[in-house]
Amino acid sequence: MTEMQLSLINFPYREMLSNIFQDYSNDFEFTASGIFRKIVPPLCPECGHPMSHNGFNTCQKRHLGGANVGKYLCGACGKSTEEDRDFWIKLKADFFGIVTEICTRLRLNHVSYEVIESIMGYLYPRDKDTIRNMVQCAIEETDVPSVKNIQFVHYDEQHPKAGRNQKYRLTLLDSVTRQVIADELFDSKDADTIEGFLRRNLDTQKQIFIVTDLYRGYSNVFKRVFGNKVIHQFCLLHLNKLIVNDFPRKTSIEQELLKYKMLNIFFNRELEIEFLSTLIEEEKMMRQRSNKEYKSWIAEAKHLFYDFVRRLELRRRRESKNLEQRTYHEALNNFKFLKMQSDSFMISVRKRLDKIEELWPNLTAFYFTDNAPATNNPIENYYSTSLKTHRKKQLEEPGIKEQIKLSALKRAGVFGRPQKSLLNAFFMFIPFLDTG
Ligand SMILES: [Zn+2]
Repeated sequence: MTEMQLSLINFPYREMLSNIFQDYSNDFEFTASGIFRKIVPPLCPECGHPMSHNGFNTCQKRHLGGANVGKYLCGACGKSTEEDRDFWIKLKADFFGIVTEICTRLRLNHVSYEVIESIMGYLYPRDKDTIRNMVQCAIEETDVPSVKNIQFVHYDEQHPKAGRNQKYRLTLLDSVTRQVIADELFDSKDADTIEGFLRRNLDTQKQIFIVTDLYRGYSNVFKRVFGNKVIHQFCLLHLNKLIVNDFPRKTSIEQELLKYKMLNIFFNRELEIEFLSTLIEEEKMMRQRSNKEYKSWIAEAKHLFYDFVRRLELRRRRESKNLEQRTYHEALNNFKFLKMQSDSFMISVRKRLDKIEELWPNLTAFYFTDNAPATNNPIENYYSTSLKTHRKKQLEEPGIKEQIKLSALKRAGVFGRPQKSLLNAFFMFIPFLDTG
């Protein structure tokens, strides 16, 4: 422990000082006039002659103060040396580490560098280029902890624009931990790019279950990369979106009912179907009347129905429940029943049923693997928190990369509770604010 020569000025800080110098041996002293040095000057590194104390150098940091480190002079050869200033470097590193962490968390929440600069004006003034530099260096140095025992993964793409350039963001998420396995930005999303991305980030020797969107030709890439070790599931919520898009925006009750019967294949929509069924006869009757009368009737009927659907949604949200998933046999029966009647359906729905039949193994793979996911919901949620659609248009490429890495770090739990406040780090500088 360093010997402290306490003066009236530094006496109140003795605890703080002994904390700061705790890593130094008994050979050191902190003098009454505030110089940190060896009690007995060292031997000259050039000629071995004992050196003598020779004043000090001051290390300064704006707004934080300064510390004096002793200098030594060799009487024999004239060599001059300085005591090491590691304690000062550490104090600064602690302080700026916290400053960087504050800025990084603001970035994580999409605060612009301009706004961070203005906030930092109240804490420790720094210009926005310095802040950007600090944050980006810190992000680059932090590794995303790797996910172990990958089994169930979600794969998805986003197509953000960096200025005028179309970029492709490919993302792999671990289904169990919801952690990011890989999240990278490319100039292209051709089969080779996707293949390389998968090979680099997944164990291709291991059995894997991957969820993706429909119709993007991933199956071939997966077979090339994983051979027969891959189970490929199409996201059922994406299928639902496609089903909804098969219908015109202004549906009749009859069409609406068919839409919900389609959605009912994989998810329980009985309540909606029941509601719509009670309106079917009435719609037939209203259709006999004038166009104007039907129009006002359908507007009212749809209003009531959407209201009903919204209330069901709210109830699910309140109870934190998702739509109830059909069992395999329910799904199969619902599908077969619709397929049988399909001659009477509109063409887009008939085509959709054919497609579902064709993709049936990929739509139902999750039924045959324990605890397997059927949707890409986790990755949708991840995207919605990390790079919102309205934001991905304005960001430049470094900005997109920064957001990608930040979200991955957040998922991995890197941002825990702060260990130390900025004030804690600042208090350590108090002995040096005025060293007398
Ligand atoms: Zn010397």
